[in-house]
Amino acid sequence: MIKLNRTNKPVELTIELQDKLTEEFLKTGKSVWHLDFLKKALLDLSHNKCCFCETNISEESKYLEVEHFHHKDKYKKEVLVWENLLPCCKKCNGTKKDHDTKIEPIIDPSKIDPKKHLRYWRYRIKGIDDIGKLTISVLNLNDQERLVKKRFEIGNAILEKLEQLNELIDDYINGIQTKTLRKNKIVNGTKALIKEGLPNSIYSGTTAAIILTEPEFETLKSKLISIDLWDSELINLNEELIKNGLELYK
Ligand SMILES: [Zn+2]
Repeated sequence: MIKLNRTNKPVELTIELQDKLTEEFLKTGKSVWHLDFLKKALLDLSHNKCCFCETNISEESKYLEVEHFHHKDKYKKEVLVWENLLPCCKKCNGTKKDHDTKIEPIIDPSKIDPKKHLRYWRYRIKGIDDIGKLTISVLNLNDQERLVKKRFEIGNAILEKLEQLNELIDDYINGIQTKTLRKNKIVNGTKALIKEGLPNSIYSGTTAAIILTEPEFETLKSKLISIDLWDSELINLNEELIKNGLELYK
C-alpha cells in the first residue's frame, strides 16, 4: 500500500447527478456507482492499481470494484461522495466486506500515509500501531497465496537482476568490458529496476522495500558511485524509491 493523492472530483459527477443517483440508491439499492467516468477517474487516482494491495486492476476495468471506504450499507448517503470512493480489487473488496471504518478506523491511503503505520519484514507487512495492525487484519494484507508468495517472487526476480547487474559492473570495472554499450546496459538496467519500486508499478510499496533492503543493491550503488555512473537521474529515482517504499520493521 502506498500513499495516494486524492485527485479532483470528476467534472461529470455534478451535485445534481450525485443527488439524483444517491436518491435512487436509497430507494432501490441499485449499484448507481457503475459509471465509466468514475472508474476512469479512480484508476487515474491509483495508477491503475488496487488502492490497498497494489495489484493491477486496469485491464478494461474488469477487475476494478468501486470501493466505498465507509461501507455503503451503513453510510448510504456517502455512496457517491468522491472522497469516500477508492479503486479496489475484488479480493480486497471482498475481504474488507462491511467493516465499519468509522467505528474501527483503518488506513485510507488517499488520506493517511501507510508508511507511518506499516513496516516491511521478510515479504510480510507489519503494523506498528493499532491502525496499522487492524488494516492488515481487515484487508488480509499477508494473504499467503495471493500476496506473500507474490512478494517472494518479486524479491527473487529483483535479486537475480541485481546479481546480473553486479556481474556486469565488475567486468566493466576490471576492464573486461568497457564499451559504451555495456555501460548503458548497467545504468539503464539499474534505472529500470528502481522504477519497479515507484508508484506506477504494481506492488510498488513492497517492491521498493525489497530493493532498498537487498545488500546487492547497496553494492551496486557504491560501485556505480565509485566510477561516476550514479547520475542525477539515478539520484532522483533513488530518492523517490525511498519515499515510496515501506521502511524495514525493527
Ligand atoms: Zn487489492
